[in-house]
Amino acid sequence: MQNRVNIENLSKKKNETVIINAWIHSRRDQGKMIFLDFRDGTGLVQGVILPGSKALELGKILREEFVVEIEGKINARPEKNIKKDILNGDIEIEVLSVKILNESKALPFNLFYDTIKVDELLRLKYRYLDMRSKRLRKNIINRSKTQNFIRNFLHNENYLEVETPILSAPTPEGARSFVVPSRVYKNKFYSLPQSPQQYKQFLMIGGLEKYFQFAKCMRDEDGRGDRQPEFTQLDMEMSFADEEDVMKLNEKLLIEIVKNCYPEKRIQQIPFPKMTYKEAMEKYGNDRPDIREDKNDPNLLAFLWVVDFPMFEKVDINDNESPGEWTFTHNPFSKPKNEYLEDFNDKKNIDKILSTQYDIVLNGFEIGGGSIRNHKSEMLKKTFKIMGYNNDIIKNNFGHLLEAMEFGAPPHGGIAWGFDRLLMIMEGEPNIREVIPFSKTSDGKDLLMKAPGNISKSQKKELGL
Ligand code: ASP
Repeated sequence: MQNRVNIENLSKKKNETVIINAWIHSRRDQGKMIFLDFRDGTGLVQGVILPGSKALELGKILREEFVVEIEGKINARPEKNIKKDILNGDIEIEVLSVKILNESKALPFNLFYDTIKVDELLRLKYRYLDMRSKRLRKNIINRSKTQNFIRNFLHNENYLEVETPILSAPTPEGARSFVVPSRVYKNKFYSLPQSPQQYKQFLMIGGLEKYFQFAKCMRDEDGRGDRQPEFTQLDMEMSFADEEDVMKLNEKLLIEIVKNCYPEKRIQQIPFPKMTYKEAMEKYGNDRPDIREDKNDPNLLAFLWVVDFPMFEKVDINDNESPGEWTFTHNPFSKPKNEYLEDFNDKKNIDKILSTQYDIVLNGFEIGGGSIRNHKSEMLKKTFKIMGYNNDIIKNNFGHLLEAMEFGAPPHGGIAWGFDRLLMIMEGEPNIREVIPFSKTSDGKDLLMKAPGNISKSQKKELGL
């Protein structure tokens, strides 16, 4: 609105009369005078309606979370009342007149205290109210700032940001896909991407060389642990690159993020140490070891590359989808390490073949992973053959990619970060829901929009369901 001053700028306006638009953050009615804290998108300021003021009458009906336009005078606080460490600690706004822009019902939870203590289901249902709290607000703001930093960094490194489709075909990433029935083509389905893996490989074949995207990925897994059915990856791919190239760029980006967005944090070791999968399993019993020297230091970041993963593993006996004895451990498109190519070609010592896969681990969490890809059609076909796929399945499911590789596919590789997980660690949050603006519950429900929900009979009919 015209003439409106943001609350963060008020202390530069001493002795001036200004207009602010804000919510009533808190209110203490002392009868003859009323103290009010005002909040807008930029911060908080303390206000007062003085005895005898014209505004006192309207001030009486104000309640917390009412939206108001205030005309007020900015007064310097007396020396003894100055609070140095807070925004507007040296001023207060003397309310001259009040206009109520909207009223508010009493809130289902209080915003003064840390909302982490409030029932999480209530917070998720009223996400828009939780966003007014300090904690969620900070996380959303820092998410945006970090994304912005990453975008600028990667643009400066000549990476192109490319959007890839959401309505797509199945992409094997080791999970179940969500499907969307087609109305026009009865009994046909789109799949939602588990990752943009194949699209980013097409971009490389399309000669774009350097790609990134903040990609929404959908995986239909049973709500286990700290996962969401939909999450955000920072996805990257580059041509003519080997493992070192991908790792170097990612290391540089992570170091710069810490320096610029989280300067209070300290990285334990630069360059990031590397550990083989075998060593991690032998020493720590898992492939994402927490190597922090001091696990009680909230500002310590211990990054670690884990490399030399086995390319294949035995199919789980409960897995009815896999036709063969072997399946991929991370990504079917990965290339084996050069020294195992002979075994790979001869389908020998399959359990010993190591892949070019690299995972980036932070404080005991896998925050990303990627690999150099099989960029030759014949090689990729071999992976599928080892997995027991017959020619028909290979042609039907991967014919498009295998054909594309026959038109001069460059060598390429990439990585994807679990962006939510990285932010969770940076913000010191206990789970990823705290850093996802519109998070679902841990069992996959959207309580705000009430999803998954019902559809009408006619909609079902139209879709042939
Ligand atoms: N597409 C892989 C994933 O989602 C990451 C990659 O290899 O780039 O895990």
